[in-house]
Amino acid sequence: MKTMPNWLEKRAYLTPEKEAVITEDGYRMTFNQLRNDAKSVATYLQHSGIQSGDHVAVLAINSYKMIVLIHALQYIGVVNVLLNTRLSEKEWEFQLSDARAKLLIHDPVFKENIKDTVIETIDMTSIPLDANVAENLRTTINQEETSHIIYTSGTTGQPKGVQLSYDNHWSSATASALNLGLHNDDRWLLCLPMFHVGGLSIIYRSVIYGMPIHLFEKFDVEKVHQAIMEENITIISAVSVMAEQMMVRLGDGKYPDSFRCLLLGGGPAYRSLLEKCQGKNVPVFQTYGMTETASQFSTLDESHALQKLGSAGKPLFPGELIIANEGHEVPMGEVGEILVKGPNVTEGYWNRQKANDTSFENDWLHTGDLGYLDEDGFLYVLDRRKDLIISGGENIYPAEIENVLKQHPDIVDAGVVGRNDEKWGHVPVAFVTIKNEALNETDVIEHCHQYLAKYKVPKQIFFKENLPRNAAKKLMRHLLADEVPER
Ligand code: ATP
Ligand code: MG
Repeated sequence: MKTMPNWLEKRAYLTPEKEAVITEDGYRMTFNQLRNDAKSVATYLQHSGIQSGDHVAVLAINSYKMIVLIHALQYIGVVNVLLNTRLSEKEWEFQLSDARAKLLIHDPVFKENIKDTVIETIDMTSIPLDANVAENLRTTINQEETSHIIYTSGTTGQPKGVQLSYDNHWSSATASALNLGLHNDDRWLLCLPMFHVGGLSIIYRSVIYGMPIHLFEKFDVEKVHQAIMEENITIISAVSVMAEQMMVRLGDGKYPDSFRCLLLGGGPAYRSLLEKCQGKNVPVFQTYGMTETASQFSTLDESHALQKLGSAGKPLFPGELIIANEGHEVPMGEVGEILVKGPNVTEGYWNRQKANDTSFENDWLHTGDLGYLDEDGFLYVLDRRKDLIISGGENIYPAEIENVLKQHPDIVDAGVVGRNDEKWGHVPVAFVTIKNEALNETDVIEHCHQYLAKYKVPKQIFFKENLPRNAAKKLMRHLLADEVPER
């Protein structure tokens, strides 16, 4: 058994007075306070009957108390199931039962939504922070144990519960530090939901690195902008939709020199966005990762940002990545499925024998994503295998067309899916959200003709007020596909 001291315990011992969490209301908590609060909550939960090995779900929006809870559960040794707050009640029910949760700890705002839940529930505000601390809390971590079951975003369909071990989190945090480096004055702005691995991973980086988190309930462009300008933030994790808004807000301005990294991940980064960031000298690091890899897996460092625009870089130390087709690694430049391996990759999905059988092969995880490596070994992610459109034998990647559509100054958002076609099998069609009412279907198609081969140009354009995006702001193309009229 490979063990380590509990990370918060060790951190509070090393740097007790260092700031751990700064909330948007201006509360500043030290690692010592965080540890005391987490242990007090752990003691309370233990007295309520929660034991090591239990599965405990948390349904909460980002808050200091949520961070406390996540650490508290670690002090008991439970498997923490983090629920996505934007799901429907039925979806929560499914995940609670699928994950065999014994207890649901919830934010009071969800009280009404979960009133019919069959398992025991606790309102997190009723858990005191000043209970006496029990002696028997677990101050040691078994690295191989599962710490979380986190459901994937559900972008391609039914979310799957990914089992993440302490070792997965540890390896993710250390890999990121080996890539970005650790600066003594680092401050990481956390505005991604903590129920997704992108948000959760920042909590672990904070305690492992000894780095303050500036915590936001959700992404609010004005608040995030102010924090970067005035609070000496050095790093922010964001998804494209957030970064787009940040660039608009920045306008002709400039972030302080101390701001050293905009870690852009979670989904494809549009070329126009990357160019905008570069034009404003914003240090953007494009990353590729997933719930299954405990967040970041590969990242393009700043020194290659210009030269390799659009690439998600190389796998972080010591992760490995290959491109394969039908069980064989393909040569450089050829498109295939992205396979990943490394200490931050999950052991498997919870309760999904079939997915485990098809997704894992000799420690390699089949990601379901398509991409290629260029001659220098840099990764380019093209799209999801499920969303690939095959038209007259040609492969069409919806993301490439969406990229072109989004370059149009009047198109705010775009989504491309396939439509059945008698002649070609499938053809691409596009859904767009526009900001200029005068824009019509012909204009959009003409714009695409300027940049795309004919077979890639969408055959039909649908105008929509909003496109379906999930809590991680990812485009849910399968919902768009349902909207394509039958022909
Ligand atoms: P589900 O697995 O339920 O369909 P999901 O895959 O969106 O949902 P996540 O684990 O949150 O759930 O997201 C990981 C996925 O996001 C990757 O597999 C990939 O498809 C996409 N992604 C992440 N980073 C990038 C990137 N840099 N470029 C393109 N796609 C990316
Ligand atoms: Mg996935």
